[in-house]
Amino acid sequence: MTQNVSHIEQLCTDKGMKMTEQRRVIARVLSEATDHPDVEEVHRRSLAEDARISIATVYRTMRLFEEADIVKRHEFGDGRARYEETPTTHHDHLIDMRTGIVTEFRNDDIERLQKEVAEAHGYKLVGHRLELYVVPIEKNKET
Ligand SMILES: [Zn+2]
Repeated sequence: MTQNVSHIEQLCTDKGMKMTEQRRVIARVLSEATDHPDVEEVHRRSLAEDARISIATVYRTMRLFEEADIVKRHEFGDGRARYEETPTTHHDHLIDMRTGIVTEFRNDDIERLQKEVAEAHGYKLVGHRLELYVVPIEKNKET
């Protein structure tokens, strides 16, 4: 029995969510993830801690966490949903189209420009999502 309370488990408890042992495992897997895993990957990691966790349980739990705004769901262009703990500070994502590796970034010029575009249209910017889809630059092709 592990007594370590993960950050996501703590958020769930704070929101009055009933935490089963399986939910605790999934919460811990998500808390430890830095790579924006999809449901199948969360399932795979959860199985390492509890072989009885089904993919259906992972799906249900992720939906629950998402509805409670504890995790954020992303679609990075390939049709599979990927998740991260709801960030406390804003960042955007850069997605390697070959490997699916997600890199987080923040660029102050982009942040400022988006605000300016909204204002130029008579709006106050209240949020945005920005995803850059990239492939590695092939250095040898430039002569
Ligand atoms: Zn992120």
